[in-house]
Amino acid sequence: MRSWSVSSVRGFLNCSLAWFFRRTGVPPETRPVAMCAGVALHEVLAEDMRYRKEGASFDEDDALDLLESVYFLEEASGAITYGKLDRDAVVDRLRGLYLHWRKTFVPRGRIVAIEEEIRVDLPGIDLPLLGYVDLVEETPAGDLVRDWKVTAAKPSRDDLLAPLDVQKISMVQGWQASRSRPVASWTWTHLVKTRTPQVVDYELPVSGCDRVPELRRLAALVQPTIDAMREVLEGRRRPVPQAGFLCSGCSFRRACAAWRG
Ligand code: SF4
Repeated sequence: MRSWSVSSVRGFLNCSLAWFFRRTGVPPETRPVAMCAGVALHEVLAEDMRYRKEGASFDEDDALDLLESVYFLEEASGAITYGKLDRDAVVDRLRGLYLHWRKTFVPRGRIVAIEEEIRVDLPGIDLPLLGYVDLVEETPAGDLVRDWKVTAAKPSRDDLLAPLDVQKISMVQGWQASRSRPVASWTWTHLVKTRTPQVVDYELPVSGCDRVPELRRLAALVQPTIDAMREVLEGRRRPVPQAGFLCSGCSFRRACAAWRG
């Protein structure tokens, strides 16, 4: 292991057995439709923002073509698990969602980063963080770090614990530490795949006073997880299947059923 990411830490904590299958090259049997939809929409949003950064506009038909091409590539790389909506309905909703976002989204400041890599050492963690910020806008108060979240339902707010979310802390502190730029806020922009598309911002202010406690909390979460990951990879600890809550959407159901510990 040369680095850690928010998704690897979350994946390991959700189910270390699924994480182990992924890490050791077990091919996924299927992929959840939500993941493929998220990949396609992220790609077209990033390209759209690149045009806006240059003061131009992404042609609508070209944007929709890109959306469908990326979705097609996702389909070509393996079976997708569909839920209530079939393939055409999913693509239709994504098209509608992009068009709604395109009409309503206005950047709050100068665009300084789109899908940009962060690789940085953070205190108390013995591997560098590797992550990607979706969008950073420079505002007079400081940078606004934004994450696109493609979701099935409107978010419910949790103002007690959302500020301590591992993704929020990692990306905010990682951006500040790697770019030496002050961050004023973090925003999840939820692109909601309901029949009538919605775009909902969940913004959290960021204060310099939070830096030390947030970094300590992050290290307390991430370093023991990295230690456990190493032990699993080196055969000193067995991966642990989780209790079943997330199993219906898992990509390794057959491998898991055949696993004997
Ligand atoms: S089916 Fe459940 S327990 Fe098995 S690997 Fe997947 S998430 Fe883990």
